[in-house]
Amino acid sequence: MRTALNILSTLSLVITPVLAHAEWFHREEAIMGTRVAVELWSDDASLAERAMDAVIAEMRRTDELMSTYKPESQLSQVNAHAFERPVQVDREIVDVVTRSFEFSRLSDGAFDITYASVGYLYDYRAHRRPTGEQVAAALPAVDWRQVQVDPSANTIRFLRQGVRIDLGGIAKGYAVDRCVELLRGMGIRHAMVNAGGDTRLLGDRRGKPWIVGIRDPRSDARVVTRMPLADEAISTSGDYERYFEEDGVRYHHILVPGTGESARAVRSVTILGSDATQTDGLSTTVFVLGVERGMQLVSRLPGVEAVIVDGDGRIYYSDGLTPPG
Ligand code: ADP
Ligand code: MG
Repeated sequence: MRTALNILSTLSLVITPVLAHAEWFHREEAIMGTRVAVELWSDDASLAERAMDAVIAEMRRTDELMSTYKPESQLSQVNAHAFERPVQVDREIVDVVTRSFEFSRLSDGAFDITYASVGYLYDYRAHRRPTGEQVAAALPAVDWRQVQVDPSANTIRFLRQGVRIDLGGIAKGYAVDRCVELLRGMGIRHAMVNAGGDTRLLGDRRGKPWIVGIRDPRSDARVVTRMPLADEAISTSGDYERYFEEDGVRYHHILVPGTGESARAVRSVTILGSDATQTDGLSTTVFVLGVERGMQLVSRLPGVEAVIVDGDGRIYYSDGLTPPG
């Protein structure tokens, strides 16, 4: 059992700041529409620089492959042609799509990469949303079972017209995991890799845990709780990442596949687990499921814990976490 101990409250930290120590290295860049950060310990400065270069390069590569904002990306090619014919893709896309189906199965479709069949009609930056008719016309294409993956040929095919996929609910976690494996392969033993809401910790902070804060979904200056962690992944999905408001209603980027509307039961979901692909996929899944069904799912999964902030700001901890006293 893991405990959420030493809850220090009020501080706005998300990750402990780097102390001015010669052997900790830190880099940060804007990639995948978010902030990517890597922090690692090494007694070899040139190895540290190469390791951070490798992380940044891997993040960029995943973005090139899986972005739906780039028309030339493989994923955009899939969306453009997979109803006409099977589209060949790199192994990573096959792996991520296959992994996404696990979350779809676990949640009875609350996690569904074909949410994009209706999701593409929203533009949060431009404050644009579809009409009720547009949503109704697009909804039949929201169904992950209409996506056929051939793992021996590395192809993807859509069984229905109008299907689109988007890996935004899982790709960052996947990229974080790959980066951690790269670092491990280079001999790094203490590191933190973060892409937006998805973080993985390799080892501890040299004899101390990493302290990770969960931000208050309605104030980026406050944290809900802080947890000491090591060798673990943690992801947060929130309704404050990409949204606009209209007549007091918040339209944000996590959609309920059954309705094509933003999921409104909770404000944020944080998942702890062993790898970031899992925690990323599950944070989005549990966000759609809400407190009750979400916690039920979490309690069925070994090694997984959750902290949920509901629509009224109430905080829920899964059974394996001790709430702050
Ligand atoms: P972020 O860190 O970008 O906030 P999240 O892990 O919270 O990411 O996932 C949100 C993203 O997941 C959305 O931007 C969208 O790309 C995708 N998404 C939205 N709704 C669903 C859904 N029901 N199933 C799968 N993916 C979704
Ligand atoms: Mg996610």
